[in-house]
Parts: sequence; structure tokens; C-alpha cells
Amino acid sequence: MTYSIALVPGDGIGPDVTNQAVEVLDAVGDSYGHVFNYVELLAGGCAIDATGEPLPASTVEAAKDCDAVLLGAVGGPQWENLPGHLRPERALLGLRSALDVYANLRPAALLPQLKAACPLKDEVVGAGFDLLIVRELTGGLYFGERGRSEDGESAFDTERYSKREIERVLRAGYRAAATRRKKLCVVDKANVLESSRLWREVAAVVAKDYPDIETSYLYVDNCAMQLIRAPGQFDVIVTSNLFGDILSDEASVLTGSIGMLASASLGDPSPVPAGAKATTMGLYEPIHGSAPDIAGKDLANPLAAILSAAMLLRHSFGLEKEARAIEAAVSATLDAGFRTKDIASRGAAAATVAAGAAEEKIVGTLEMGKRVLEALAAGAAKT
Ligand code: NAD
Repeated sequence: MTYSIALVPGDGIGPDVTNQAVEVLDAVGDSYGHVFNYVELLAGGCAIDATGEPLPASTVEAAKDCDAVLLGAVGGPQWENLPGHLRPERALLGLRSALDVYANLRPAALLPQLKAACPLKDEVVGAGFDLLIVRELTGGLYFGERGRSEDGESAFDTERYSKREIERVLRAGYRAAATRRKKLCVVDKANVLESSRLWREVAAVVAKDYPDIETSYLYVDNCAMQLIRAPGQFDVIVTSNLFGDILSDEASVLTGSIGMLASASLGDPSPVPAGAKATTMGLYEPIHGSAPDIAGKDLANPLAAILSAAMLLRHSFGLEKEARAIEAAVSATLDAGFRTKDIASRGAAAATVAAGAAEEKIVGTLEMGKRVLEALAAGAAKT
């Protein structure tokens, strides 16, 4: 099958890491008989330099014509003093809203190989954790009415959610939970906020459609504590734009490095029947930024971008086997001890992490990508 992927490398380390993700996608395509055609598009600072705007209309149009979008990162100090509407980050908000990708899936799992990079104590982490935060992405406080009083002495932002917006992101959460450990926690502040009380009302109705999934509710302040106290208790968390933004950053720190975390932003699932070329539009990106401090220096960890490519295959193209092959190759590469600097054991770059673990070997972006390709080939040879 042939698929088209809009490739938006962006700025800083964006091109460094998306180059590696593309190599991995192509290798998977060769092994499993798919062709991925890339349409390279400008967005962010590089688009400002080339066209004067962060998200040219041609980028949006071309992205909509593709089956999915893979993005690196945007931004950098050279564009920081531009007015708000010309900042590179506008490209992200613009693309998300143009593609109507309202459910942001951010998995945060502690890989056993990276336990030493987790800031929590061993007795807290226990057997590790594997959770997924589903954040509502196109509504709530970030899109509500805001302003200042005439005298400038006060300001306001508005949290407004419609039943439809709540229902569709909850359903995205339930669909994800159905493929995982079948637990879903709705996180809100229903003891104070009216909008949160609406979230609970809608959740109580939607939950009835998913009787085999255990639904629970937690206030956001308690959830923030529980993530530190016992992260292993969570499977899928579904929450609003604001709460999801904060909780997913908290969860990312627990995994050891921002360079490991992938994300998917999804719209409505495709109505195309199974067996046909089923594609669901999605925007896939590592959660890290453009890291200007290490851009072009062969220092960036490409694994978050590579894992984002795996999410793209799973969620947009329904290619589960292929997605798992990438995830297994990343895991095998870590098992073999390969680490970019950001995920090396703290304070002991070449140390052995745990008894029986392979000795750590610090590698750059290019070599990490090459090692994943080798692991992919070794995995394919076994199956
Ligand atoms: P950042 O994520 O770019 O970097 C934070 C720190 O993490 C830096 O020390 C960086 O070197 C390190 N880091 C990030 N990704 C890494 C990787 N893959 N491998 C190794 N180390 C990595 O965040 P920042 O410094 O706050 O922002 C830099 C620029 O990126 C800003 O212009 C910001 O607006 C932009 N930004 C873009 C996105 C996006 O495109 N989605 C997200 C966040 C920030």
C-alpha cells in the first residue's frame, strides 16, 4: 500500500531527528511492503525566513492532502522577539486547528532500561509505569474568551467546553483504553469548576458505552500527587487542555528524558472499512522543542521522533505490527546499552546501570538511528 506523509522538520533539532525517523519508516516499508511518499513542508522559523509567515497556507493545504503529518519541532532564539502572530509556535496551533486534531495522546512509560534516569526512588517506581495522557487539544482555557479590564487592573481567561468537545475526546480515550489495560481516569476539578462538573456528567453517559473499561474520577491536584506517589496505578488519563498540558509535562519527567517521548494528535477516526486503505488524519511529533543548544551537533536523541513514527503507523494507518517492530527495535537498542547523552546514567556516562545490564555506550544522533535500523533488521530476520 502507498501512503503519503507530510514531513515538517521545522527548526533546530527538528531536521536532525525527523531524518532518523524517515530512515526507520523507510526500512519498515521495505520489510513489510509499504511505500511512504513524503511531502516536505515548511513551518515555524524556517517558514518565516522563507515566506515571512510561520504557517504558509500552502503548508496547510498540502498537509491536509496527505494521510498523516510527521513534525520535528519549531522555534528558536532568532525568532523570539517577533510579534505573537508571527512567532514560530503559531504554526503548531494553526496546524492542529486546521487539521482538527482534538485528542492529544501522550504516552509516558518507564522503560526498564532507563530506570536509572527516573528521578523517583526505586521503591516508589516499583515495577515501573506505562500510562497514556489524553489531553483535549482544541478547546478549553487556551481557546476561550480572554481579556483585560479597561483600567488594566484585572485580566481574565475563560474555560468553556461543549458536551460535544468533551464527548469526542473521552471516546478517543476509551478507544485507547480498549487496546491497553482497560482503565480510564477522568481528571478534573469538579469540586470547584462548573466546566469540570459538565465533564463528569458527560463521562457518566459515555462510560455506559464501554462497560468493559473501568472508569474512575480524580481531582487534578490529587492526580498531580498520585503521579509522583504511585504512577503505576494509571492506565489512561483523559483531561482538559490546561490540566493535560501540565500533567503530561510532569509525567514526562518521570520517564527520564524529554528526548524519549512521542505524541499523537488525532481527529475523528476514519469511517473507511477495515481492509481498505484506512487512514485517520493525525499529527505526530516528539514532545520536545527545537533544542537550539544542541541543534546540528549530532547530540539530539532521535528516539522520541522514531517512536512518533511508530504512533503514526499505528493510529493513522492501522499498521500495528509495523509499529510494534519499531518499538521493539528501540527497546533492543537500549538493551544493547546504546544511549544518547540525555539518557545516559546520571553522573556516570559509561557506567553499568544494573547487574546484568549491557554497559552503556554513548552515541550521537546518527549512530543511534543506525543502531535502531540494525535492531529492526535483526528483528525482521527473526520473524
Ligand atoms: P526544548 O525541549 O527544546 O529543550 C529543553 C532541554 O531539553 C534542552 O536542554 C535541550 O537540549 C534538551 N532536549 C530537548 N530535546 C532533546 C532531545 N531530543 N535530545 C536531547 N536533548 C534534548 O525546550 P526549550 O529549550 O524550552 O525550547 C527551545 C525552543 O523550542 C523554543 O523556541 C520553544 O518555543 C520551542 N518549543 C517547540 C516545541 C514544539 O515544536 N512542539 C515544544 C516546546 C518548545
